[in-house]
Amino acid sequence: MPSYSQFLAALRLNLSGRSDARIETGGILRYRTADGTVDYESVKVVSEPILAEDRIIIIRAGIHGDEVAGPLTLMKYAGKIFDYARLKGVKLVVFPLDNPSGFEAGTRYNVEGDRGDAGNNDFVRYQLQNGEIADDLGSQNEFDRWYWSSDPRFGAHLPEETRWLHRELKKIPFTQVGAVLDIHGDNFISRPYAYHYGFGDLSVYRPIVEKISGIAPILAHAEVNSGYLNGPGFIPEVVRDGQIVIGDLDVKSDEMGFIVRYDGSLPDLASRLGVRYAITVETTAGLSQDQKDSVNLIWVYGLIDLVAAESKRPLSDSDLVADC
Ligand SMILES: [Zn+2]
Repeated sequence: MPSYSQFLAALRLNLSGRSDARIETGGILRYRTADGTVDYESVKVVSEPILAEDRIIIIRAGIHGDEVAGPLTLMKYAGKIFDYARLKGVKLVVFPLDNPSGFEAGTRYNVEGDRGDAGNNDFVRYQLQNGEIADDLGSQNEFDRWYWSSDPRFGAHLPEETRWLHRELKKIPFTQVGAVLDIHGDNFISRPYAYHYGFGDLSVYRPIVEKISGIAPILAHAEVNSGYLNGPGFIPEVVRDGQIVIGDLDVKSDEMGFIVRYDGSLPDLASRLGVRYAITVETTAGLSQDQKDSVNLIWVYGLIDLVAAESKRPLSDSDLVADC
């Protein structure tokens, strides 16, 4: 496994000489350790230029530090990804490794072990009809209002890397964002599978899922609770057939391997902000890195295609109303 500095060096090499993509350093992530503090420079890769009429796709990987597949895919294929986006006229904002200290430590959370109040993929708070506040609705889309989890009214504790991403996301004009892709990797399921989280009309992804099924078995009709080990709603996991499953929340994948879960994650936030295509990709531990690369790239290219097709579509009356 590369160190973070080796990761950044490889990423820079992959993107060297380009005028259409720029690696931006976004400040220092500082963590306390037994020996004092350790600093990591946060980075994002952005298309150059991004104009007011451009459509943007946000790609994020590595928020869970031990889920290395996504960062490695982006490290190796960033150049090809920016080539494809340019060909299709879509701009990118890429957060290639969101939790560098966890990446180096091989841990889900950062080197402090800080899981915040609701994990590190924590972006939304829901006010329920009874007035209670929740960070995860399961698959039931029922609430009164939603807020950013960093809204000061909640006083929520967010890990360092999560606070940074909140600040970065607030700089992005979300009215221009056509898709958000959040690349994870399921280390809880040892058999080889691909599955995904999405919102809204999932039938648009059928061609993407068909392509993925040629690379990895789709985890269809399965109860999955991998990684959801936080928060007041947590119910101890049940291991069945090598998988961590949970029955009580009625969270189950459909025949295409999609789970709908309003879990306060980055794609859930994006969906609340009006982003039509908001996807979390999961590849399980039983797949090789090459297979994970292929699955991740099918999603990247597939979403670029969807957003490119959408931006060519003339605005309809309903779009204009929705923008008001
Ligand atoms: Zn994850």
